[in-house]
Amino acid sequence: MNQREQPPKRDLMPKTPRWNSPLWYLPIMLLLLWIWQSTVSQFSFRTIPYSEFKDYLKHGKVKECVVKEDTIEGKIDPTAPEPAGNTNSAVAASEDRLKPELQAGAQKRNEGMKTNAASAAQAAAPNKPFLFKTIRIEDPKLAEELQAAGVKYSGERPGLISQFLLSWMVPLGIMVLLWSFIGRRISGAGESILSFGKSRARLVPQAETGVAFNDVAGCEEAKYELQEVVDFLKHPHRYKSIGANIPKGVLLIGPPGTGKTLLAKAVAGEAHVPFFSLSGSDFVEMFVGVGAARVRDLFQQAKAKAPCIVFIDELDAIGRQRGVHVGAVNDEREQTLNQLLVEMDGFAANAGVIVLAATNRPDVLDRALLRPGRFDRQVVVDAPDIDGREAILKVHARGKPLGADVDLKRIAQATPGFSGADLANALNEAALLAARRHAHKISQKDLEEAVEKVVAGPERKSRRLNEQEKRRVAYHEVGHALVAAYSKYADPVHKISIIPRGRAALGYTLQLPADDHFLMTRSQLLDRIRGMLGGRAAEQIVLNEITTGAENDLEQATALARQMVCLFGMSETVGLVRCAQRQNGLFWHGGDGTFQRDCSEKTAEEIDAEVKEILDRSYGEAKGILEQHRDQLDLVTAELLKTESLDAKTFNRLIGRQIDNAEVRKGHPVEPAPPT
Ligand code: ADP
Ligand code: MG
Ligand code: ZN
Repeated sequence: MNQREQPPKRDLMPKTPRWNSPLWYLPIMLLLLWIWQSTVSQFSFRTIPYSEFKDYLKHGKVKECVVKEDTIEGKIDPTAPEPAGNTNSAVAASEDRLKPELQAGAQKRNEGMKTNAASAAQAAAPNKPFLFKTIRIEDPKLAEELQAAGVKYSGERPGLISQFLLSWMVPLGIMVLLWSFIGRRISGAGESILSFGKSRARLVPQAETGVAFNDVAGCEEAKYELQEVVDFLKHPHRYKSIGANIPKGVLLIGPPGTGKTLLAKAVAGEAHVPFFSLSGSDFVEMFVGVGAARVRDLFQQAKAKAPCIVFIDELDAIGRQRGVHVGAVNDEREQTLNQLLVEMDGFAANAGVIVLAATNRPDVLDRALLRPGRFDRQVVVDAPDIDGREAILKVHARGKPLGADVDLKRIAQATPGFSGADLANALNEAALLAARRHAHKISQKDLEEAVEKVVAGPERKSRRLNEQEKRRVAYHEVGHALVAAYSKYADPVHKISIIPRGRAALGYTLQLPADDHFLMTRSQLLDRIRGMLGGRAAEQIVLNEITTGAENDLEQATALARQMVCLFGMSETVGLVRCAQRQNGLFWHGGDGTFQRDCSEKTAEEIDAEVKEILDRSYGEAKGILEQHRDQLDLVTAELLKTESLDAKTFNRLIGRQIDNAEVRKGHPVEPAPPT
């Protein structure tokens, strides 16, 4: 669960239409420009043919005009009286010549009336003075004629500046305005589209995170290391006077949900210095070089505010080993990483900027990143132990009213392998369950139910099994439980249930270790495998028929047996050779347990034979146990079918043990598993 606050999603209509995409911008702008220019030039001028202009001129209707480089503009008053006589012979001659053309022009105008709106307007109000414009034609006698008609006329050079302003600057201004408007819309958080190379780091104000060190529990060592960093920022002289340098970088390593991001937030809350927070993926963009630019920008900002802390979450997004893959994406990542390496420990050393980073894949990080001088301090934030879990539960129980019967220690006991996030989730589920039954306090039962829900998924009330299937499932589960109960090193049975839960399970048997262990012995592993096969064994013995229900058991048992042979060197035939590589994961719980074979064909055959041998032997033993305790198998199954779930106490009573769950391991009254 990543707790970094995201800006609320604003864009509700993504993908297909993308009306605000920048691609639309160009055609729309061109269209607007064209409309603008044509309106500006057309505004209030009526464009008339040159012949018509001459016609008006001859009849003395032209009042004034400006002869420009390639147009003539002016004013025509159709109501003006005709001049009395033509004294000038030249004019008379030209009049004769023009006569037929004039008539043709008039005719054309009449035709135009049907289609041309401008002419229609002209026809509707023929007697109003109007401004005209016409395209100038080479006409040497024009000046003479104007003179003769007594028109006020003048020449003009094209008004460069005013024209330029009107037809270019105004639309350009509009363009720029629109561009910035659209740009702001596109980039969600108010960043401009032009700021590609800007770092996306958020400067967290001191009080904003609201997380302090005492909100983090169960990882005392990590807290201690970080407290030192905070302390240095508060009292630098104390460290400097004795010649100590504070680490430039602190890398938090741990499986997901163990509180790495939370710890960083706590540092932000406690250190009274500026805190930049961002995630590794914030650097990565499609374009090569952007990430590097962002790193540069980030450190520039940080140096300006030193002393300060820069926190990079999910560092593996940019910190992967260089030169492993090929392609553009990789180029980009390598450049980003190189820039980061340089910024952290290059020539331009950055005093006072402490880089904090978190990752759950330290195995893929580039080695140059991990060397002293960069992330010289690596803090492992591992899954909490039993006391840690109790402490985390207590932290998250703040503000949640707990019933008097609640025993957080018991819950901590029942949740080995839970991360801080799992525990927080379980407590929240418990609160939801309590609220659902309108209670004012969270009871122990709510908590237990919530833990089960987190482990096995929610109950599936709608999945109804028929009687026969129910019986099969019940025998299967009791088979697991009984084999486990009669194996010396198996984890004690905590609960058996045939209420369907989660995605696949029709029923389940919950076995929990009485306390955390960090090593597993060979006997423990074999007992675990035997317990996993107990379900199938019970089906075989009682119903003389096997089902598909054991698939998951077989998968897990096989994987475990294979690990024993390949990784742990626990087989005599194969010996100590490690013949496989773990795919990912430094962490026992974190990695998903996939691994790749790394050996010759011959060894592979030996491994397969050995794995088969382990499984067959365990299955035989499981069958032996169940046949020996056949009466208990029937008894417990009958009870389970009646009540649908059995807790540890009832189960132990049914098989004749009066001991508490936690003591099962110590005082086993049963025969030990046959030595293998
Ligand atoms: P990650 O290690 O994956 O960054 P987070 O720090 O985001 O995990 O943890 C997720 C949530 O789990 C936190 O917000 C917090 O509620 C809870 N949590 C995890 N670890 C702890 C812890 N040690 N103490 C208290 N709460 C924790
Ligand atoms: Mg995180
Ligand atoms: Zn099973």
